[in-house]
Amino acid sequence: MQDTRAALAIPPGRSHENTFAFSMSSAASVISLDTPLDQVEGLRPAAVRMLVKEGLTTTGSLVLHFPARHEDRRRMDFKGFCPSETPVCHHVRVLKTRVLRFGQRGGVFETIVEAAEANPMHQQLTLRWFGMVYLQKVLAVDMELMVYGKIKEIKDRLLMDHPEYEIVRGDEDDDEVGIHSSRIVPVYRLRGGLKQKPLRRTTWQVMEQLPAAALPDILPRPKAGGDFAGMTRAKAMRTLHHPDGFDELTQAQRYLALEEFYIMQLRAVRRKLQFKHHGGNSQRAEGRLLAAFAEALPFQMTGAQSRSLDEILADMALPQPMNRLLHGDVGSGKTVVALAAMLMAVESGRQGALMAPTQILAEQHYENARRWLEPLGIRVALRTADKVLESCAPQILEADRGPDIVIGTHALLYERSAGNLPRLGLVVIDEQHKFGVAQRARLIAQGETPDVLVMTATPIPRTLTLTLYGDLDVSTIDERPRERGKIITAVREATKVDEVTKFVLTRLEEGRQCYIVYPLIDESEKLDAGAATTGLEEWTKRLAPHTTGLLHGRMDTEAKEAVMRQFREGSVKALVSTTVIEVGVDVPNATVMIIHDASRFGLAQLHQLRGRIGRGAHTSYAILFVPKGDKEAVARLKLLEETTDGFKIAEEDLTRRGPGDVLGSAQSGQSPLRFGALLADTRLVTTARRLAERTLKEDPELTKPGHAHLRAMVGEEVFGEGTMQ
Ligand code: ADP
Ligand code: MG
Repeated sequence: MQDTRAALAIPPGRSHENTFAFSMSSAASVISLDTPLDQVEGLRPAAVRMLVKEGLTTTGSLVLHFPARHEDRRRMDFKGFCPSETPVCHHVRVLKTRVLRFGQRGGVFETIVEAAEANPMHQQLTLRWFGMVYLQKVLAVDMELMVYGKIKEIKDRLLMDHPEYEIVRGDEDDDEVGIHSSRIVPVYRLRGGLKQKPLRRTTWQVMEQLPAAALPDILPRPKAGGDFAGMTRAKAMRTLHHPDGFDELTQAQRYLALEEFYIMQLRAVRRKLQFKHHGGNSQRAEGRLLAAFAEALPFQMTGAQSRSLDEILADMALPQPMNRLLHGDVGSGKTVVALAAMLMAVESGRQGALMAPTQILAEQHYENARRWLEPLGIRVALRTADKVLESCAPQILEADRGPDIVIGTHALLYERSAGNLPRLGLVVIDEQHKFGVAQRARLIAQGETPDVLVMTATPIPRTLTLTLYGDLDVSTIDERPRERGKIITAVREATKVDEVTKFVLTRLEEGRQCYIVYPLIDESEKLDAGAATTGLEEWTKRLAPHTTGLLHGRMDTEAKEAVMRQFREGSVKALVSTTVIEVGVDVPNATVMIIHDASRFGLAQLHQLRGRIGRGAHTSYAILFVPKGDKEAVARLKLLEETTDGFKIAEEDLTRRGPGDVLGSAQSGQSPLRFGALLADTRLVTTARRLAERTLKEDPELTKPGHAHLRAMVGEEVFGEGTMQ
């Protein structure tokens, strides 16, 4: 024990603020992030061997192995063991251990413990580990443990099942007060042969020796905002591993989140600048086709639609390529705006392409486009992996011109490289979250850069559009067409299915149609969710003599198309489906949607789903089934009963889950957020944006002194040669 103290060169418990500044005192042992652990003085060889075996070979790899959580092991008033839904941490002493055997193989290891420091109430707690009989060789009477888990009370016994534990006193290892207890202690995620205490001790020792210069700032220092006055990367990292208090810890996590957002924003802003300097063509014309289109529409565009269209046309008229996001709730009328924009491309002598995420949607767009555009003399073609359809007789298609507007799926991407869209002026990408950033880049990289319009119906709070679509300009349609039927939403226990059936039958008698949505295709072993296939049988009986149909992602394309066509034409009255109907399907006569196991979906996804109804003039009804007695689900889904404003729902999702989570589910494929994911603080995103814009304004190539590591973090791919003038 003495040795360790000496090696640490500090008395435990002393604030590391001071020791940190002086830790460079022995010049011989100055370490950097690249120093192999076996060259760091004072570390225990056994611990180093263990870490190296798990790939933690350098000091840097330890510094970046962040704690999964922290436990408060400062001396606290012991308030007793209390049952609670949240896990708690207790310092306990083992009083008794025993093994209960079940049959040949099964067994439980139990220990009875009391509070280690003071136990005025003489309370005892039973810790149980099922199937872990070997623990009898690990835990023994009189040992002191830190345990972490949920306490419950069953028949007057206080129990903690499968707690995480750590032996703090009494094992063969020495005790290090000040590292493993008597402070806020980091708890690291373990894998393979890693053990908590040696990992923690070694990280502590490394942090003590690491000079601040080894962790240079990423954020521009004086401008990091009043919130972070005096904060540095070195200090934040240090606090993260060994905080002196929870306020400091939160502050450090926020600072590190800001760093992450800053790098993301540098990438986005840089990409945005790069697009702007990448070829492009000015598409402007008198607007003859547009006027004719507006004339022929059976409705007037909403103010938000017109405003968005104006923004798009202004971009298209510029010589630089457009990169714009058209962002609007389901049913807000994005498609009409996109078609109008494509007409501008056509009138200026170019072609428009619209890419949908699925075949069904491509076909639906194709039908709409034909209906509206053919009377104007526009040639529309459908190209999907399975199908090539041209909307006019081949003899009219002059060989050299091809179609004016092409609608398709991903197949279009490949088509372009084959030179089949020689005059491509505008690409519209529908529901872009199904397309990756890489695919977008691919399209743009192919020769002359067309204008790109990305449409998404995922309502994203403004601060997050900056992160998710930070390289795009944004137009938002925040207004719904007026003569639209209302959607009334009701959350109901699944046991109310008979009443709901009656209600649906009445709507079907009136000539309306219905969606019935299940979260899964087949009964899965793990999830007891209802499945569309069994659901079909059940609902066919319930709704007889009305016809039902089935739609799910594993059906082949022809079968899918057939049932969609029947539903659109009205020969199928009720469509039982999985979430494949989520995006874009447009059947205005469908006014009822039943969603089974609605509690399995997020709010935003349920909102997307119910956007399939309420598309005609009739009032529509969404019925969300939740398990009987599931009060939590009822409370969570209540917001959907209260509002149909997608942005409000997205905001709620955001405050509930934090931006990292929301981004995480939307931005698959991008680098994961480690700190940003923990925080519900969207201001950080805006701050990061501002800082990134300022940095790139001063140093667009990030080549100034001190920016080399920034450039490396942002990634070379956004620094192509000669792309910035
Ligand atoms: P989105 O793609 O945003 O979900 P769509 O463009 O598919 O919405 O429009 C949904 C439905 O509303 C379509 O049937 C469309 O014809 C109709 N629509 C679009 N704009 C208007 C409007 N301004 N007034 C009335 N109906 C509209
Ligand atoms: Mg749409």
